[in-house]
Amino acid sequence: MYIRTRLTLWFLFILALMLATFSATIYQLTRSNLLGWVNQDVRHQAAVLHATIHLCPASATLCVPQLDVFNAPDIYLQVQDLRGTILASSGNLGKHTLPLLRDAVAADQVKEVSVGNMPLFVYGQPVVINHRLLGYIIAARSPQTVYVALHQLNQLFYLGVVVAFGLAGLAVWLLVRRAMLPLEYLASTATEVAVTKDHSRRLSPRGHSDEISRLAYTINGMLQALEDSYQEVQKVNDLQRHFLIDMSHELRTPLTVMLSSLDLIKKVGATDPEFQASSLERMQVEAERMARMVTQLLILARSDANVTAAHEPVLVRDLVADICRQRHPTDGVPTLECRDLELLEGALVWGNPDYLKQLFLILLDNAFKYTPANGRVEIVGSLHGGTVTITVADTGIGIPSSDLPRIFDRFHRAENARFQSGAGLGLAIAQRIAEQHGGKIEVESELDQGSRFIITLPLL
Ligand code: ADP
Repeated sequence: MYIRTRLTLWFLFILALMLATFSATIYQLTRSNLLGWVNQDVRHQAAVLHATIHLCPASATLCVPQLDVFNAPDIYLQVQDLRGTILASSGNLGKHTLPLLRDAVAADQVKEVSVGNMPLFVYGQPVVINHRLLGYIIAARSPQTVYVALHQLNQLFYLGVVVAFGLAGLAVWLLVRRAMLPLEYLASTATEVAVTKDHSRRLSPRGHSDEISRLAYTINGMLQALEDSYQEVQKVNDLQRHFLIDMSHELRTPLTVMLSSLDLIKKVGATDPEFQASSLERMQVEAERMARMVTQLLILARSDANVTAAHEPVLVRDLVADICRQRHPTDGVPTLECRDLELLEGALVWGNPDYLKQLFLILLDNAFKYTPANGRVEIVGSLHGGTVTITVADTGIGIPSSDLPRIFDRFHRAENARFQSGAGLGLAIAQRIAEQHGGKIEVESELDQGSRFIITLPLL
């Protein structure tokens, strides 16, 4: 059922209740007032008549005056003695007699009885003269005019209630319909947005700033949020697609190198032991690269699932020195210098050695990746109070200042780094590892001058 129908029905129900209560109260009040007045009048007529009755001087009977002097068409009077003989009655009674209701007389009450099919309010009063009961006055009055008036009032109420009901219902229906129009407009526009999938479309609130326009603004806010999340999801989807392409490419390259090396070893390896040794070494490098990449993916997946690796005390110096040793100088890559590592002698951190190694390797790999062959990469260690700091610096391409704030976001890659393959995950993982160890990574960089990544870890 429509809201407007429900509202109208509710309104009519309440109106009906109010009108019925109001009409019934007015009717009852009027009825009891008018009948009370008839009641009083009957008593009054009896009292006036009583004052005129006296004992006849010659006999001990009652002398009753001419009753028609109290003439009024709807007042009936009758005087009777104790034996019930009617001594006098008003002319409008004709041949009817008024009944003497002894119980009502004893209780001094006015009773409604029917005399010759005519309803009458009857009141009987004893006639007592010189302390002697000599007879009764019976006064009656017809309530007919009162009943007619009440009947008309009743009809007026019925008519009034029906008319008021109809008019009010119509007025409420129209008003509610008018009030609902902006809502219908909002609903149809929202439906259009849903059907056309045009997320950029907005509702335009009409008229005053009321609840409905507030609703329109709220829906607009919701649409904006939906559009933002939709675009965010699209972006993540794009990034993941690129990530998959990059990852497959990254994994395929070392595999191709390894396969061709194996092929060559098979063909000429037996005859050329030197070539065999260098091929095996190349394969090892590629296999290590692949293993690193897979480890990175694993770390990311685990940190997303909030799985923390087992921690133990780790000697930072040994860890960094190991990495420096692995990176022996080769042709076509920048030089690597590891300085001041002796300052880290005995420095222990609480962490996972594999993850920490991964963290330094990511930064070192990046430094090599984004630094030209004639450049320089250095790793410097230092201790400050309760922390150990390792700086990985290079003289490479640097990071544009506009990219610096987002450099640790997943999949984010600066424009000037696109010449190298990569998925934009390394720094996100490195930062995650540092945070998991209670530390942090900061970056300073200048375009075409070089970058400096500073890792700070709390000492055990
Ligand atoms: P990837 O290197 O695979 O692109 P990373 O998360 O390791 O992903 O790095 C994100 C981005 O940060 C890189 O694409 C590059 O733009 C920038 N970056 C990281 N390290 C360096 C660096 N040493 N020199 C210049 N740019 C860097």
